[in-house]
Amino acid sequence: MNCGNGIDTRQVDELYINLDPIQAGGRLTPDAMKAVLAYGDGYSVCDHCTKPFRLDCISKPPLAQFHKDLAEFMHMDVARLVPGARRGFQAVADVAIRPDDPVLLTVYSHYTEFLAVEQAGGRAFEVPADDAGIITADAVASRIEDVIRITGRKPAILFVEQVDYQYGNLHPVAGISKVAHQYDIPVLCNGAYTVGIMEVDGKELGADFLVGSGHKSMAAPAPSGVLATTGEWAEKVFKTTGIKGDITGRTFGVKEIEMMGCTLMGVTSMGMMASFPHVRERVKRYGDEVKHSNLIVDALLSIEGTKVLSEYPRRHTLTRMNTVNSFDTVAKTHKKKGYFLTSALLERGITGILAGSTKVWKYNSYGLTDDQARYVADSFVDIAKKEGLPCVS
Ligand SMILES: *Cc1c(COP(=O)(O)O)cnc(C)c1O
Repeated sequence: MNCGNGIDTRQVDELYINLDPIQAGGRLTPDAMKAVLAYGDGYSVCDHCTKPFRLDCISKPPLAQFHKDLAEFMHMDVARLVPGARRGFQAVADVAIRPDDPVLLTVYSHYTEFLAVEQAGGRAFEVPADDAGIITADAVASRIEDVIRITGRKPAILFVEQVDYQYGNLHPVAGISKVAHQYDIPVLCNGAYTVGIMEVDGKELGADFLVGSGHKSMAAPAPSGVLATTGEWAEKVFKTTGIKGDITGRTFGVKEIEMMGCTLMGVTSMGMMASFPHVRERVKRYGDEVKHSNLIVDALLSIEGTKVLSEYPRRHTLTRMNTVNSFDTVAKTHKKKGYFLTSALLERGITGILAGSTKVWKYNSYGLTDDQARYVADSFVDIAKKEGLPCVS
């Protein structure tokens, strides 16, 4: 089976348990699959687009309602679909940062946050993590003071990840926002690993902006995401056009400048919207996901020499391990070298960990059933025992 032009049919999540750190939360629901087939054509959501001619105003399919539902789901005032979390950062950076402005990020910020700051001409200052790998409100306070001392100005905005991509640690955003707001610094909370995974309340977090990723965490096709904000900031970040052509005198109605008018015009918005009712339900079962995450990490820790680099016990499903003193000792003499582990996992129907990893590696257990989680946990121990690694039970 192939799709022509050298494209093989992809069968990963159909055939394997996929622990890929960035793929687990974006796996489509069956309803999203159907929407993808039905709305694959370009501009397919535009059949019934009428005045005022904007994506978030379309009522058939019910995109207008979906935008309202998303804002409510995130506990924010206004939401817009964006082509990936990164485009949300970009829109915010463009209105909140002037050239040479100092901007606060963290040592765990994603490269797309840095690039958004760079495009807006900002200067990057990072908040360090504490020994436990957590970005604390105290560290934010002292870094704000640093920035003021160094540049003579307060940061234009603070970017903070609710759960970071390096360790999958959960950071105390509510406390962090409180500190930033004491200095009148707006806060962008990066929910790329949380919105659509766990219940996220933007108001409670004190977020001026809350950004989610459709393809990372909302069971949606790429590129998709959501930018939500407060009524106050909506006026700036969703400002409508005022430009006029000098010959034609044309103006462009209520198109939003930062959104380039319309954003997700087909398969992306429809996939995201079809998954949404499932996503809204699944965040309530986050406790089970955390249970599975800890079940697997505990199995790994029973293999002598294995360390967990993420916070422990786990509060998220993305986890970073150090197996230098366990699996990597096997790799030194194994005929498959470093590939023995991912190859042994593949033989057991498990994929998604970077091929050849035996030292420091990440996995994401999101979306596994009870049986699958137990199976993954047992498989790691089984592989270790087969290779003669001592395990404590
Ligand atoms: C994946 C990721 C992003 C980028 O998300 P896109 O939706 O692909 O733009 C941003 N921040 C963090 C923390 C991420 O893990």
